[in-house]
Amino acid sequence: MTFVITSTCCSDASCIPVCPVQCIRPRPEDPDFHTAEQLYIDPSICIDCAACQEECPVAAIYPEFELPEELEGYLEVNADYFADSPIEESAAPDPIKHTLPAGHATLRVAVVGSGPAGCYAVDELSQIAGVTVSVYDRLPTPFGLVRAGVAPDHPDTKQITGLFGRVLSRPSVRCFFNVEIGRDLSLEELRSSHHAVIWAGGASSDRALGVPGEDLDGCVSAREFVAWYNGHPDQAGRVFDLSGEQVVVVGNGNVALDVARVLVQPVDALRRTDMADAAIEALADHGVRDVVITARRGPEHAACTSGELAELARVPGVVVRAESDEVAALGDSPRKAKLLAESGDRSRDDAERGVTFRFGLTPVSIEDDGTGRVAAVTYRRADGETETIPASLVVKAIGYRGLPVPGLPFDEDSGRFVHQEGRVVDGATGSVVTGVYCSGWIKRGATGTIGTNRVDARETVASLLADLAAGVLPEPTGDADEIATLVDARVPQVVDRNAWNRIDRAERDAGAASAVRRPRAKLTAIDALLAAARQ
Ligand code: NAP
Repeated sequence: MTFVITSTCCSDASCIPVCPVQCIRPRPEDPDFHTAEQLYIDPSICIDCAACQEECPVAAIYPEFELPEELEGYLEVNADYFADSPIEESAAPDPIKHTLPAGHATLRVAVVGSGPAGCYAVDELSQIAGVTVSVYDRLPTPFGLVRAGVAPDHPDTKQITGLFGRVLSRPSVRCFFNVEIGRDLSLEELRSSHHAVIWAGGASSDRALGVPGEDLDGCVSAREFVAWYNGHPDQAGRVFDLSGEQVVVVGNGNVALDVARVLVQPVDALRRTDMADAAIEALADHGVRDVVITARRGPEHAACTSGELAELARVPGVVVRAESDEVAALGDSPRKAKLLAESGDRSRDDAERGVTFRFGLTPVSIEDDGTGRVAAVTYRRADGETETIPASLVVKAIGYRGLPVPGLPFDEDSGRFVHQEGRVVDGATGSVVTGVYCSGWIKRGATGTIGTNRVDARETVASLLADLAAGVLPEPTGDADEIATLVDARVPQVVDRNAWNRIDRAERDAGAASAVRRPRAKLTAIDALLAAARQ
């Protein structure tokens, strides 16, 4: 018997230290850790102790005999990972136990952003005796993209909020939500009242295609669309025209597949989720029949993971098509291309909706229907010809991009900070900005899964502690209560941990009261969130 890791794996690697026989790979120090789709268990070594399953924050690990039918293939997927590279040494990694350096009894850190990057940084810091952490978020709600990015039909992935909620509830952690740094408090005020600031604000903008027509009505970024259906207050009031039959999604990463799945999925499945009510209603009555997912390279470079692809192929009433001549040439293909080839071979006569994968198409312009709305996307094909694909909505799923932070150096080309192991650096001079660190997408770009942020945060916190030991961090002025008093004066509606718990309870109660017992019914307007916080 063996345990099996499945597609929900968040790769935060919390299962690795608890495995007594070290049969899980890749480990954070292995070369393929950042490129592997997930972690895998070697079935020939697993001793069936269940320690990994208990530790997994997203319920991605099953004993083989309890694998749900749709995940049975993962037994083979796990074994395949070790086919060419059997485990040779299985010594447990040294547990990382941070302590404050000698001579330092206390450390005060501000973490900006309460998404996965921020929460994992708080987790690392708040396990150290003598450290206090204040967490800031501009929204009244924590958890960043776990709340506003993870697809509503991925409830297992959202279970990571259980871990993050426990982290934010630790006595050494203080939450200041509904407080925007740069608006309500300045970065300098944060710096002077803490030994260090970790910026974990994520990537809140989009990469641009840079083609004519990109600004037409009906050409939107996946970030906006995803935030809308997830009830992010910034996008909650948006109206997307879903009356047309064909939507084009540019890019074929996991975000593209999330968008496609949400558009073609039967709405009854979505009604049971925490999707924003307005989005459920819009999707209940839309005209979309086909989603075309286009990529500029071939299927062997598809940016989505196999798990997302397999999931799309399982959506009831949906046929997934791939141009067979485009995938046939792959021969001994990797799993994704094989899945695509199989999808292309399959036709479902009863299919109500379809998703078509196209490859080798580089966008050159978005076409106008004559009224300022999109009508089609024109591409240059690999053979040099152009091809135009009609579209009533164009969703650009080509990646997220970070925004500059006033007062800090920023690399506009990459849309993120330049950094040295998490220390923010001025790219022009190479000098380190003392006491300012970064973690997550603003540090490494919009890549990786939720759990990648754990390893990332570890590196940043290790740098911060090394700087403290080296004596480079200035002693903060004032005490922790002073900054709290300042926040109270400027933001009377600051949302602390208890206030967030009240919002959380109100949303869960409303969800439980619905006929289909939803996990939560999200409040999507700032006023409504703040009212629930005060209840
Ligand atoms: P992504 O994985 O980086 O995919 C971006 C896609 O856009 C690629 O297909 C890329 O093609 C294409 N692209 C980029 N620039 C383009 C251009 N100028 N013209 C045409 N195509 C262009 O980004 P993402 O889908 O936004 O995902 C971000 C991260 O979140 C990823 O690490 C992803 O795995 C993660 N995520 C995970 C899940 C999950 O685990 N379920 C869900 C959502 C997101 P090229 O390859 O040719 O550049």
